[in-house]
Amino acid sequence: MSGGPQSQAWFARAQRVLPGGVDSPVRAYGAVGGTPPVIKQASGTTITDVDGRQYLDFVGSWGPLILGHAHPKVLRTIAAACARGTSYGAPCQPEIELAEHVVAAYPGIDQVRFVSSGTEAVMSAIRLARGATGRDLIVKFSGCYHGHVDHMLVAAGSGLVTLGEPSSAGVPARFTELTRVLPLDDETALRDLFAADGDNIAAVIVEPVPANNGLLLQRKAFLSALREVCDAHGALLIFDEVISGFRLGPGGAAEHYDLRPDLATFGKVIGGGMPVGAFAGRRELMQHLSPEGAVYQAGTLSGNPVAMSAGLITLQILHEENGWERLAELGEYLERQVGAAVAGAAVDVAFVRIGSIFWLAMHTKTPPRTAEAIDPRAGESYARVFGALLAEGVALAPSAYEVGFLSLAHTRADIDRLASSLARALKSV
Ligand code: PMP
Repeated sequence: MSGGPQSQAWFARAQRVLPGGVDSPVRAYGAVGGTPPVIKQASGTTITDVDGRQYLDFVGSWGPLILGHAHPKVLRTIAAACARGTSYGAPCQPEIELAEHVVAAYPGIDQVRFVSSGTEAVMSAIRLARGATGRDLIVKFSGCYHGHVDHMLVAAGSGLVTLGEPSSAGVPARFTELTRVLPLDDETALRDLFAADGDNIAAVIVEPVPANNGLLLQRKAFLSALREVCDAHGALLIFDEVISGFRLGPGGAAEHYDLRPDLATFGKVIGGGMPVGAFAGRRELMQHLSPEGAVYQAGTLSGNPVAMSAGLITLQILHEENGWERLAELGEYLERQVGAAVAGAAVDVAFVRIGSIFWLAMHTKTPPRTAEAIDPRAGESYARVFGALLAEGVALAPSAYEVGFLSLAHTRADIDRLASSLARALKSV
């Protein structure tokens, strides 16, 4: 499935001047085949490509656009902020207001620092964790993505505790020697690692709602074990809430699971569609950051007034319009409608959902809890489903391992349309 003639012409130009034609790999359609539509504009739930083809969008720019595309109030706020100047490189009111909002919303934090991407947030939070504990080791989980930070680009062995082995060229093995990879959903592996090396572990980082390798919803007991083991060994627990933060609710996964991380990282929704990331924690931890402490961290465009204003208005609208409750209701409706579609499928499909985040697990009836449990045939089957949907003008993420997102712009009619397209597509797989 490829875009129309104009998209193809533009994408050919793109491939000459942008590696792979894109600025972020999954956009290139490598996992589903064909070439992507080149987008001209978007509004609400509709994206329009350069051929004038329209798509009902469930990608939402990979998560940020929780109010839908081009929300009028967000646009007006951005325009007004731009008119006051796009960057000052000095403290400004919107960054202070957004910080106050984040601190009030997310449990157990006193301070936040803004950056410009989720990757930067994770990189900085890990440096802070190491600086604050004086320890070097970081534990991550197979199937969790934390941005393209060198020492987080580590492949996991098949369910075993592995020493970090880089999964990207250009990351020296020595850079990942201090990263330990564990399987999700496995308290024994966790306790064994801590028993052996607990005194050297600075932090455990986890996506509490792992949503970058399918949607691998965890048992609360597993997440609680992380908290307990970190406490017992003086290690910090970092929740990477780049996807879940301000999407599941104002308190993210921490509130949802009633667990308190020591540090949390944010991105996507917190920037209202502008390039924003953030990391946050208790005052005594955050005060290790420069200029107060010895952990250096900085950014030319960090906390810039336009991005901060977009984030702030987005969170305000979510609060004022009961956004999270409405999203959860839409999610329940989606689950009911798609549940029926999935029941008639030619292959087993598990529909996995939490709040407004959803995923189709192919070739299984049981939602997988680990990356290793995903059926290897999923990629090929999903590519067919994806192509059939796109041909009907419905856009899911172009990868079997990426989740879908609902926004407040979606209506029940939009969801019905997804469900009926999906029912047709799944019959033909
Ligand atoms: N952490 C998580 C959980 C993410 O989902 C992502 C992005 N998908 C990142 C970090 C990296 O964020 P960014 O792409 O903004 O650098």
